[in-house]
Amino acid sequence: MAKMSPSTLRIGYRYRSGRLAPDYDAVVIGSGMGGLTTAALLSELGWKVCVLEQHYTAGGFTHSYERGGYEWDVGVHYIGEVGAATRTRKMFDFLSDGNLKWAPMDAEYDRFYVGDKVFNAIAGKQEFRDNLVRQFPDEVEAIDAYLRLLERSGDALSAFGMSRGMPALLRWVAKPWLAWKRRGPFRRLTWDVLSDLTSDRDLIATLCGQWGDMGMPPKRSPFMAHAMIARHYLYGGYYPVGGSWRIAETIIPKIQASGGEVFTYAKVETILVEDGKVTGVEMQDGHRIECACVISSAGVDNTFNHLLPDSVVARSGYRRRMQNVQPSVGHLGVYIGLQGTAEELGLPRTNFWIYPSNDYDAALDRFQEDKDAAFPIVYISFPSAKDPDYENRHPGTSTIEIVAPAPYEWFEKWRDATWGKRGDDYEAFKEALGERLLEYVYAKLPQLRGKVDYYEVSTPLSTNWFGGYQRGELYGLAHTQERLNQDWLRPQTNIPGLWLTGQDVLTCGVTGAMMAGLITTMSLVGARKMAPLLKVIYAGPGA
Ligand SMILES: Cc1cc2nc3c(=O)[nH]c(=O)nc-3n(C[C@H](O)[C@H](O)[C@H](O)COP(=O)(O)OP(=O)(O)OC[C@H]3O[C@@H](n4cnc5c(N)ncnc54)[C@H](O)[C@@H]3O)c2cc1C
Repeated sequence: MAKMSPSTLRIGYRYRSGRLAPDYDAVVIGSGMGGLTTAALLSELGWKVCVLEQHYTAGGFTHSYERGGYEWDVGVHYIGEVGAATRTRKMFDFLSDGNLKWAPMDAEYDRFYVGDKVFNAIAGKQEFRDNLVRQFPDEVEAIDAYLRLLERSGDALSAFGMSRGMPALLRWVAKPWLAWKRRGPFRRLTWDVLSDLTSDRDLIATLCGQWGDMGMPPKRSPFMAHAMIARHYLYGGYYPVGGSWRIAETIIPKIQASGGEVFTYAKVETILVEDGKVTGVEMQDGHRIECACVISSAGVDNTFNHLLPDSVVARSGYRRRMQNVQPSVGHLGVYIGLQGTAEELGLPRTNFWIYPSNDYDAALDRFQEDKDAAFPIVYISFPSAKDPDYENRHPGTSTIEIVAPAPYEWFEKWRDATWGKRGDDYEAFKEALGERLLEYVYAKLPQLRGKVDYYEVSTPLSTNWFGGYQRGELYGLAHTQERLNQDWLRPQTNIPGLWLTGQDVLTCGVTGAMMAGLITTMSLVGARKMAPLLKVIYAGPGA
């Protein structure tokens, strides 16, 4: 196994207080997709924006890292809605000036191993339907009813997004309309909605086979969150050509063009508040950056529980509100390097989802009680196979990644130790988990046994260390029904000068965080100033 050396793949400009400009129009905390989108859109409108990122490289969960001659993404396995001129694709094109390219995965973008059965999802609405009908010939009515519901969910999801960006008065006026758009199934749990359509447990399991994409199995997830993911991937999965780090690399020039910068190794310690108003941030080195507009993309837990002074949080009501939300589950990642190209090793451009049975909730319950129980979900991705440029950067090699849930509590006792120095017992524990997970790969692709050249295991503590989280949250806040009902999860806070963006404002996913960046910008500058920019972004025919 190669030595754990720091990654050489770094983007952004290393923070030094002397490198800061004296007059930023806004400071953004965190350079994930939410922070970068907000910064880039504001820059386009002429603002000078300073993005502060605590990690050694920019991008948040879109960053990649290199070790031992291999390269892995950490939070981007596939993105939907970028194969045609959709709103999502147009936004990516705008932010990256057309420099971010997308490679399609195989038509079979997701494969679900459910106990000893195999089902799958095929790209394209009609193809998706026909494939389901082939797998469940007695369930045509249920499948069509489900697809009609997905169609209708577009309206409910738009209303949800709009409500987050609306000014308070407009939101109050529009309340009955917004509630009507989110009526019926869009207020119920996924399991309840789907079991009204069918009693076929395998069909429900297949429809929910992507539950890991938002972290909540069907008996716990709101149907809205389920529909958001299912719609997103309906036309297939795509991968950023050149690796996920290209997302940040292609957006940063837009921020620099109007005098802004993305600083790395730039940990914000405190959001400064005087007389009830935000006045800037204090950095870990004690330096203060004065700015009347601070946008936090570091997640609401960090923002309200760690970055703001306690008295401000209590007075503004956020202490009480935070009790209605909880962190999403933690995860294990196994990053694998192999000698041989994806083609030579027979690696597909299809994600594998492996489940012990079709009762996803029961399997998760069992696992949470007993860590030796079967993993309730194991996700396997083949990034080098998905990236047509990988071979140019790392010839003759390939990569695989495994993701599986892991409660934060299992690792909590090592939380204060430094990365790479958590001790032999920590290393042995994660090694054992990693070995268990590797067996899932060999079970599906036996030709790989003996071919693994390198692997390392990440835990929820790695998410804390590199992603700045507190409890190894895979997707920020858990996507519960209650979370979707929290109206205060919006860009504008009631602390003047403080704004929120990123996945906690809307929903998880690179696109969720990007759209949060859009509504944060719109809330900040107002619809009138935003309209001409939206015209430019969404010019041309749509799909
Ligand atoms: C394993 C995994 C797989 C995923 N797969 C996919 C996928 O295939 N497709 C998809 O669309 N989505 C996927 N996601 C989800 C997606 O990556 C995230 O939802 C999205 O990128 C979140 O963006 P964000 O900007 O809200 O947060 P983040 O990307 O987490 O950015 C927040 C940033 O804030 C920084 N920060 C925190 N505190 C401070 C501080 N005090 N000072 C300075 N900086 C700070 C952090 O370092 C971080 O860079 C995946 C996530 C994970 C973890």
